Amino acid sequence: MSRVLAASGVEFAASVPVLIVGGGAAGLCAALAAAERGADPVIVEREALLSGSTALSAGLIPAAGTRFQREKGIADEPALFARDIARKAHDEADPAIVRLVAGRSAALVEWLADRYGFPFSVVDDFNYSGHSARRMHGLASRSGAELIDRLRGAVERVDVTILTGRVADTLYAGADGRIAGIAVKSADGAHESIGCRSLVLACNGYGGNPALVRSFIPEMADAFYFGHAGNCGDAVLWGRALGAKLSHLSGYQGHGSVATPHNILITWAVILEGGFQVNADGRRFSDESRGYSEQAVDVLRQPGGVAFDIFDARIAAVARQFRDFRDAEAAGAIVTADTPEALGVRLGLSSEALAAEFARVRDLKSAGSADAFGRSFRGLPQLATPFHAVKVTGALFHTQGGLAIDTGSRVLRADGSPFPNLWAAGGAAAGVSGNSAAGYLSGNGLLTATVLGRLAGEEAARHAAA
Ligand SMILES: Cc1cc2nc3c(=O)[nH]c(=O)nc-3n(C[C@H](O)[C@H](O)[C@H](O)COP(=O)(O)OP(=O)(O)OC[C@H]3O[C@@H](n4cnc5c(N)ncnc54)[C@H](O)[C@@H]3O)c2cc1C
Repeated sequence: MSRVLAASGVEFAASVPVLIVGGGAAGLCAALAAAERGADPVIVEREALLSGSTALSAGLIPAAGTRFQREKGIADEPALFARDIARKAHDEADPAIVRLVAGRSAALVEWLADRYGFPFSVVDDFNYSGHSARRMHGLASRSGAELIDRLRGAVERVDVTILTGRVADTLYAGADGRIAGIAVKSADGAHESIGCRSLVLACNGYGGNPALVRSFIPEMADAFYFGHAGNCGDAVLWGRALGAKLSHLSGYQGHGSVATPHNILITWAVILEGGFQVNADGRRFSDESRGYSEQAVDVLRQPGGVAFDIFDARIAAVARQFRDFRDAEAAGAIVTADTPEALGVRLGLSSEALAAEFARVRDLKSAGSADAFGRSFRGLPQLATPFHAVKVTGALFHTQGGLAIDTGSRVLRADGSPFPNLWAAGGAAAGVSGNSAAGYLSGNGLLTATVLGRLAGEEAARHAAA
């Protein structure tokens, strides 16, 4: 149970300069930044092993103007990136935070690369919709598991204390909103209290709290939650009790391409490279090019709540750079056939309907025109035999609403003034995706986790030293 209690009279067993709740990308970046400033940060993490949604992700961090881009001849700049984020979020995101994260993105990626040896490279063989430049930076496996492992290795090398197996459930606050410390509960039910000069909330959003999802995002109340189960909305619940400003609570990242029943993410590259989705009737049903996030609801509305990604061997070769896709192949999720009709049989769909959609898509590509849903097929290569398909469903990946922050990542009260010693980053803070799934631009999750995590750690350390 997350609660806020009065700090007066509470004796803390120990006190630390910078305390961080949550050991995902946001918490670990905060810890690295605070440690660089000599603040001796301590991380409290509920799991025995660091994972979070970060470990489940593809580990791709968007950044504009990096040397990795320049080496590949990719022209990009923060202002362009900020425009892309704002446009996808229908101008609902806080423009100052959008400029902040876009402006600091290149320095973030180069910081992790140069100081901590993260071997980033740019995904340069396909475009993510909504991004005007190729700016997704990933590690060799293109997996969040590798990202979290490298972050954990980095914090261990600088001797950051990580208290695992502890759930933070209580904040102790003064009448002025100053956080004096927290209480954490271990698996055996024992409570310990830890005092702090600065507190960073990096415990992500409320995807793992069905009641909050139902209340803020009813359209995904019954959807499969693909993120980390331990993200139960503590930041929002504490914020509500403290009188914090909460923003964009209906915003989220969905995904319309999760292999079912295998529960493996199938990269949206299979669609953007020239593939398409059909439903169980063998018919297309949407403009897939808008983005995978808003596609989640569209897929869930189809018969049985499922769809089928249709693509070919060339596209599979692009997708294979992602560990998830290779895992899906190994799990037998990808179906192959030489003709549309045979693919229909293998998928249990009407062969005639599927063949007719293949023909329609072929004609749209030949003409370079758009369909009735508004998807343009201009410049997309024709699918060639052998064809592939995978049965998918829509899922909730992570929530985008949370604690409103200022440009120093400080948590704001309902009246807009900052709390004295409270910071938030990653999914704990309100994101830059606005109020709906359609506002999520690829990479907004790790962008705000890493950039704001680093900033929160810097600022929390500066405050603790003052
Ligand atoms: C399948 C999938 C793919 C994705 N792919 C991408 C991608 O490629 N690029 C991208 O930008 N984003 C992606 N995302 C989103 C991205 O994973 C998240 O936005 C990001 O990991 C959030 O980082 P975080 O540190 O805020 O949260 P997390 O990584 O979830 O870390 C939060 C941590 O806090 C801990 N915690 C929670 N409550 C408490 C508590 N009370 N006490 C102690 N500990 C607590 C949790 O156990 C967890 O370890 C993806 C998400 C999913 C689910």
